[in-house]
Amino acid sequence: MSKKLVQAITAIDEDFAQWYTDVVKKAELVDYSSVKGCMIIRPYGYAIWENIQQYLDQKFKETGHENVYMPMLIPESLLQKEADHVEGFAPEVAWVTHGGNEKLSERLVVRPTSETLFCDHYSKIIQSYNDLPKKYNQWCSVVRWEKTTRPFLRTTEFLWQEGHTVHATAEEAEEETLLMLNTYAKMCEEFLAIPVLKGQKTEKEKFAGAQATYTIESLMHDGKALQSGTSHNFGTGFAKAFDIKYSDKNSKMQYAHQTSWGVTTRLIGAIIMVHGDSSGLVLPPRVAPTQVMIIPIAAHKEGVIEKACELQTRLASVARVKCDTSDKTPGWKFSEYEMKGIPVRVEIGPKDIENNQVVLVRRDTREKIIVSLDDLETKVVELLEDIQQSLFAKALAKREEMTFIATNMEELRNNADNHPGFTKAMWCEDQACEDKIKEEVGFTSRCMPFVQEQISDSCVCCGKKATKLVYWAKAY
Ligand code: AMP
Ligand code: ZN
Repeated sequence: MSKKLVQAITAIDEDFAQWYTDVVKKAELVDYSSVKGCMIIRPYGYAIWENIQQYLDQKFKETGHENVYMPMLIPESLLQKEADHVEGFAPEVAWVTHGGNEKLSERLVVRPTSETLFCDHYSKIIQSYNDLPKKYNQWCSVVRWEKTTRPFLRTTEFLWQEGHTVHATAEEAEEETLLMLNTYAKMCEEFLAIPVLKGQKTEKEKFAGAQATYTIESLMHDGKALQSGTSHNFGTGFAKAFDIKYSDKNSKMQYAHQTSWGVTTRLIGAIIMVHGDSSGLVLPPRVAPTQVMIIPIAAHKEGVIEKACELQTRLASVARVKCDTSDKTPGWKFSEYEMKGIPVRVEIGPKDIENNQVVLVRRDTREKIIVSLDDLETKVVELLEDIQQSLFAKALAKREEMTFIATNMEELRNNADNHPGFTKAMWCEDQACEDKIKEEVGFTSRCMPFVQEQISDSCVCCGKKATKLVYWAKAY
C-alpha cells in the first residue's frame, strides 16, 4: 500500500519539473485556479507561509519596523513618476479600466509592487529630520503578468511582504538595506535550512529604479538557482521623483534616502526544491506546520489509541504534534505523512506499550530510533534539532559540490551543458559580456558575492581585465 502511493509521484531525478508539480498537488499545498498563473494556496501550504510570516514579522518589529496597508490600485500617473521604475514594470502590470460599466477617466494598475504609493504618502508625511527614519512594512499580494508561471516560484498573483523605509542619510539607508538582506539570509539558513549566497545584482539585473540591489541566491536540487529575496537601496532617486524632502538640523532642505525589500511565497518553492525527495516533501522542523505525527499501530487493540492520545498530550508541550486515529491503515498513513514531509513519525503499538517504548522515524533519513517512553520529550526535541541541522548541512554540502569555476567561454559553456549548479567566473563589468553569456551559454549573472575571490585576472567572456567575481547559473 505505502509503495503504491509513493509511486504516485514522479521520481525526483527522472523528471524534476513533473516531480515538483506532483509534490505541490499531492502534498496538498496548492490547487490550480481558473485564472492561468494564479494558484489556490491550500491550508497546508498556507500554514507554511504563516510560519515564515510569523518569523519575519517578529524580526521586522524587533528592528523597529511598523506594519501598514496601502491600496491595491495605483493611478497610472503615479506609476509614471519614476522613469526607470515604470519602464521596468509596464510590460507586466494588469490594468483596471472600468468601474462597473463606466470607463475610468484614468486607468489604474493593480500593484506589481508599491514603491509609488509609499513614496506619494511619504512625500506628504515627511517634513523634518524629526520625522525620520520611517520604517514601514506591508503584508499583501501583488500582481505581475508573468509569461510562464509555476506554483510558488513564479505566479501571477503572489503573497509577499514589502518593506519601504526612508532615512536622513545615505549611510543609514545602506545599513538598512544590508540589515534586511541579512535578516532574509538568516531566515533562509536557520529557519528554512537553505544555504544562500549573499551579494549584489549587476546593473542589468537590478530592480527598476534602484541604485543598488542586493540578493540572496539559493541552489535547487536540479542545479538551477533561485533568487530568494532582494533588498534595494534607492539612494535619492525616488525621493527626487516624488519630492520627498526634509529640513535638516540647519533648516536646509534635503532629499531623503530610501530602501525597499521583499520576500514572497516563492520561498515555499525553494523549500520543496531544496529538501524534497522521491517520496515527496521534506520539511525542516522549524517551518513545518506539524513537526510530529503519532500513528497508532494495531489501533483496534485495547489501550493503543488511548496511549497514542496520551503521547500527543505529552508532546504538545514541546512540539507541534498531531495524532492520526483514523481507521486508515498504518501503511497509508506512513506514505501520506512522508508525502507531506512531516519531520518525525511516532509509531506506538501493543508491543511498544508492553516494552515502555516508541519508535521514532525521521523523514529525512528514514532512520528508525527506539526510545524509552520515559525520555520521549527530550528525544523528540533532540531529534527535531538534529534534523534541522542535518538538512542544512546536506544542502550546503550539495551546493558546494555543485559549484564550479570557469576562466574562459569554453569552460563556461561546458559547465552550462554538463555541470548543473553555480559557476564562479571573473567579469569585466561590461554588460555586453553579460548579454553574450546569457545568449550563448544560457547563464544569467546571479550575484557579485560580498565575499570576492580572484580566480583569474581576465574576464571569462572578453578576456579584458576583470574587476568582479560573479556567480553564474541557469535560474528559475
Ligand atoms: P522585486 O520586487 O522584483 O525585487 O521582487 C522581490 C522578490 O519577489 C524577488 O526577490 C523574487 O524572489 C520574488 N518574485 C518576483 N517575481 C515573483 C513571482 N512572479 N512570483 C513569486 N515570487 C516572485
Ligand atoms: Zn568582458
